[in-house]
Amino acid sequence: MLSIKDLHAEIDQKSILKGINLEIKPGEMHAIMGRNGSGKSTLSNVITGRENYSATKGSLELNNESILDWTPEKRSLEGIFMSFQYPVVIPGVNNTYFLKAALNAKRKYFGEKELDSAGFLKVIKENLKELDMDMKFLQRPVNQGFSGGEKKRNEILQMLTLEPKLAILDETDSGLDIDALKIIAEGVNNYRSPDRSFLVITHYQRLLKYIKPDFIHVLIDGKIVKSGGKELALELEEKGYNWLDS
Ligand code: ADP
Ligand code: MG
Repeated sequence: MLSIKDLHAEIDQKSILKGINLEIKPGEMHAIMGRNGSGKSTLSNVITGRENYSATKGSLELNNESILDWTPEKRSLEGIFMSFQYPVVIPGVNNTYFLKAALNAKRKYFGEKELDSAGFLKVIKENLKELDMDMKFLQRPVNQGFSGGEKKRNEILQMLTLEPKLAILDETDSGLDIDALKIIAEGVNNYRSPDRSFLVITHYQRLLKYIKPDFIHVLIDGKIVKSGGKELALELEEKGYNWLDS
């Protein structure tokens, strides 16, 4: 599904990613772990096409097609989703309106009929229930006045509503209390299917108690220095990252 080869990227001419190789197949869940500043969010931003993040070398393909010159909108329509490490507040834009517009943009792109309010409400009610969220979150502007945990839940609500093929979760666990973490993990686990893939970014082993990735990769200074299975998370918990420094 996603294929990254020797990917180099920079921000403001500062080199951040220094040769990333990563293959994510349909249905797989990969986790990226690493210290603060190692380039995890940069990798997500390059995959989603955020402005000012430029790939300088290597390839980034979705289903065997290069997406490096696709706009962020096209990447999203084609099924790439990202839950932000720091979700943005959008004052003045109602959360229901935002989600409905996003979902309908996607339906339109695939030639499907757009949902009316009643149709949308049906979808969203189910997703709210899954995440144990109150209807009142829909009436408010996107993320405005939401607590840290509520913002993260709202990101996952977007994921469930937009039904991406590849979901990138950038430190979705940070700032969550244990109950919220469990609810989100359950939402994510229920969303797994043979044709949906995940890239889960975290620097805590804690999340990986509830979400079980198939592969774990350690990112240090813009490079994946080690890959392994679930057991690698435990090893990192115990030994930290220093033993992997070159
Ligand atoms: P992580 O998510 O692993 O904590 P980031 O990808 O956010 O790491 O950051 C990697 C490096 O890139 C850091 O040194 C950070 O300061 C730098 N960086 C990230 N975003 C920007 C930006 N917009 N402008 C300049 N430097 C940035
Ligand atoms: Mg980050």
